[in-house]
Amino acid sequence: MSGPADLLRRHGVQVTAQRLAVLRAVSGNPHGTADEVQELVRDDIGAVSRQAVYDALGILADKGLIRRIQPARSPARYEDRVDDNHHHIVCRSCGCTVDVDCAVGARPCLQAADEHGFIIDEAEVVYWGICPACQRHGHEGHKGHVGEQPQRNKGQTGPTG
Ligand SMILES: [Zn+2]
Ligand SMILES: [Zn+2]
Repeated sequence: MSGPADLLRRHGVQVTAQRLAVLRAVSGNPHGTADEVQELVRDDIGAVSRQAVYDALGILADKGLIRRIQPARSPARYEDRVDDNHHHIVCRSCGCTVDVDCAVGARPCLQAADEHGFIIDEAEVVYWGICPACQRHGHEGHKGHVGEQPQRNKGQTGPTG
């Protein structure tokens, strides 16, 4: 067993309280948005700026400690399950996200009909549907019913490449 601090060091990330707290928040709340991560980090270590949370998420994602998923029309979500190429099912109504294993074992797990000469190493698949809770409450079309605004990425200092 190695702690999260070791994990950061092994990936060449300088250990800070904020980065550790962000990593904990993502582990404890897979597929959470940056807003949710910020709330958890605040509960954990006290005041933290949104920018600090974004910076930490960016570094952790860059170094492969967490994975960023970005379903269409949804804010980016983060998870610490990075050691496989799993996919996601996203609820059209409330946006909740669950893991689903690859369509077929190894990458890219979906054979393209025409690879156009590319060497394809990944297929990013998002399954859309209606989650059980929303089925019970009656599906109200495509509007979300949680306090989640569509997020503009303009201020985001995400990693490039
Ligand atoms: Zn739902
Ligand atoms: Zn996942």
